[in-house]
Amino acid sequence: MNPTQKLEFVKAQMQRDANEVVGQMAKIEGVPHPEVVVTFSNRLVSAVGRCFYWETPSRIQISVQHLSSNLDNPAFIHRLIIHEAAHIFHPNHGSQFRDLCAALGCPDEGPTTLTWREQNIVVNGVEPQGHFKCPFCKKVTVTKVVPTQKRIKRKKCPLCKQRGLIYYPTRGNPLHRALLL
Ligand SMILES: [Zn+2]
Ligand SMILES: [Zn+2]
Repeated sequence: MNPTQKLEFVKAQMQRDANEVVGQMAKIEGVPHPEVVVTFSNRLVSAVGRCFYWETPSRIQISVQHLSSNLDNPAFIHRLIIHEAAHIFHPNHGSQFRDLCAALGCPDEGPTTLTWREQNIVVNGVEPQGHFKCPFCKKVTVTKVVPTQKRIKRKKCPLCKQRGLIYYPTRGNPLHRALLL
């Protein structure tokens, strides 16, 4: 599967997952199963997902930018569905919201990026994942996506335009974490 096919596959999977999750949540809440649609936005970058719980049918909107960099991250994808689906029942991140997420296997769910960082769930495209350093002009470029080997090889320095940048991942590297903070 090429990345475009993979994205379409994951999108379809998320729609099915959302239906199932919402059904389970409705049962727990003792309410009828609300209809839910999952839509995908190319323009949404400020959040990984949003929930339009006031619409009929209820709508979960997912950021394509964040999803695209997490196609091989099923923990992220499922958790995102649970988080946004729970907002159909509880718009805020209060205790009822957290209880509902916990009932579906996501304890201590809160505002997404913060919680995930605490629980060491890597969310590509949301937080800096590492940085490139140019060995020639020393320019440092922070990246929010974990690069492939191919991307590291191809990456050009934005300043001196040369290739051969060195990639330093943020995680597990206190020295570089300190540099990025
Ligand atoms: Zn939320
Ligand atoms: Zn350079």
